[in-house]
Amino acid sequence: MKNIILIAPPAAGKGTQSKLISETYNIPHISTGDLLREEVASGSMLGKSLKSDMDHGNLISDDIIINLLRSRILKADCNNGFILDGFPRTTLQADVYDNMIRELSYDDCTVIFMDIDRDLALKRTISRLICSSCGESYNTSVEALMPRISGICNKCGHALTKRSDDNIETASVRYDTYLKNTQPLIDYYKNKGILKELKIIESDTYLDVFDKIKKLINE
Ligand code: AMP
Repeated sequence: MKNIILIAPPAAGKGTQSKLISETYNIPHISTGDLLREEVASGSMLGKSLKSDMDHGNLISDDIIINLLRSRILKADCNNGFILDGFPRTTLQADVYDNMIRELSYDDCTVIFMDIDRDLALKRTISRLICSSCGESYNTSVEALMPRISGICNKCGHALTKRSDDNIETASVRYDTYLKNTQPLIDYYKNKGILKELKIIESDTYLDVFDKIKKLINE
């Protein structure tokens, strides 16, 4: 069972890399941000209560996140493992998750930390575009991730839009929230001796980054 956690600041390319890992190792990609956005899109009471915090880049309460995640990893497609993107965000979430996988008899996790400097992360966040129909992600500041036709999805031909939280103000808050809450996770997993690290530099293509990740997974 491959139980992989990707830790990275916003817009380091977690979504893109998670997708590549998911296809290569045939395990589902679970993004807590996507689970929350699905909840918002469903129009449920819970979804309505989440939108404002998400739009402001604030973290959602641990209880909500943990319940959503637990339901997701109990689904049959997770039997061979899964890749977590955007979770855990705090050491409290990491602790609860540790207990959860022990209780479910799931394998220990491999934790990969994708490090990226603040300026590069912010530049990538504000240049990100998402397909309004299939959810495919693009980035106009990364040559290999640009749409072939401006504003149009390569895959399904629908219009590309910006996520409502991908503006410079919210991106800065999200980066700072990440530093404050998530940086301690690096120490948490380092102390456990299971942290594997890579550094993203401006010239890295997403395939360069994926090569670094594969090496870490196969170590
Ligand atoms: P993301 O798609 O990972 O950038 O997440 C988008 C937003 O969803 C974040 O800015 C938070 O408001 C919320 N969120 C996603 N994952 C978590 C988590 N593990 N804990 C708390 N809030 C989260």
